[in-house]
Amino acid sequence: MNAKLVAEHVGKTFRQRHRWVTAIADLNLYVVENEFVSLLGPSGCGKSTFLMMAAGLDFPTSGRLLFNGSEITGPSIERGMVFQSYTLFPWLTVAENIRFALQKRSLPRSRQDELVAESVRRVGLEGFEQAYPAQLSGGMRQRVAIARALVYRPQMLLMDEPFGALDAQTRLLMQELLLRVWESARTTVLFVTHDVDEAILLSDRVYVMTARPGTIKAEVTIDLPRPRTAATESTPRYVELRRLILEQIHIEAQRAFTSMAS
Ligand code: ADP
Ligand code: MG
Repeated sequence: MNAKLVAEHVGKTFRQRHRWVTAIADLNLYVVENEFVSLLGPSGCGKSTFLMMAAGLDFPTSGRLLFNGSEITGPSIERGMVFQSYTLFPWLTVAENIRFALQKRSLPRSRQDELVAESVRRVGLEGFEQAYPAQLSGGMRQRVAIARALVYRPQMLLMDEPFGALDAQTRLLMQELLLRVWESARTTVLFVTHDVDEAILLSDRVYVMTARPGTIKAEVTIDLPRPRTAATESTPRYVELRRLILEQIHIEAQRAFTSMAS
């Protein structure tokens, strides 16, 4: 097994004023090369916290987080990140936004142009290179964000609810686009979401997280054939997988609700 990302007993505790908050406790997971894995859980369960650590922008307070077998010590161009909110520079064009990350490296301008063009093509933004973010719809902006994360040709994409702010129609189109990107770029994806259908439609495997402190409650293999379309959602296996995951979430939500009330 060729594991890209491995979390071993990962814990994360934050200091909030005078108290400590455990956001994540004893979290174990792995993502194999070329796999599409989702981390599914309720709001506040530590999904973003985990992704930040996988990106190397924050660190576990216990346990270990490994990428290609080595402990993550900081950000790397091998791991591209896509956030939920639009993180583009409004004063830069689409092409300039995508190019921005490349400028830190001493790549010749012609090579930068090639990589930007490749990224633009992958997400179907041809013709919009000179547009500014304000001129684009939400879905288009997230395409730019994906293109920007892809421009380094990272080994892995880390995505934090990237379609959470989009309407249902656009979201479906973006999910299809992401699957095409994943297949053509042959990359590995760890995708954070609180949407069960999104997790099932996209993933090879889904990790269901518990409410805080976040840990893995269940691991579900999504053995639905690809390519998956809107029609996949009406197959018996889809319905069964959905019920299985919802059951886990329901038990968990009840537990969280009860502990809040007490
Ligand atoms: P999710 O992304 O699943 O909604 P988060 O990872 O954002 O959840 O947050 C998990 C918990 O950790 C929350 O209770 C949040 O308040 C806490 N938390 C996250 N980041 C910080 C931080 N930088 N400082 C203090 N507490 C934090
Ligand atoms: Mg979050």
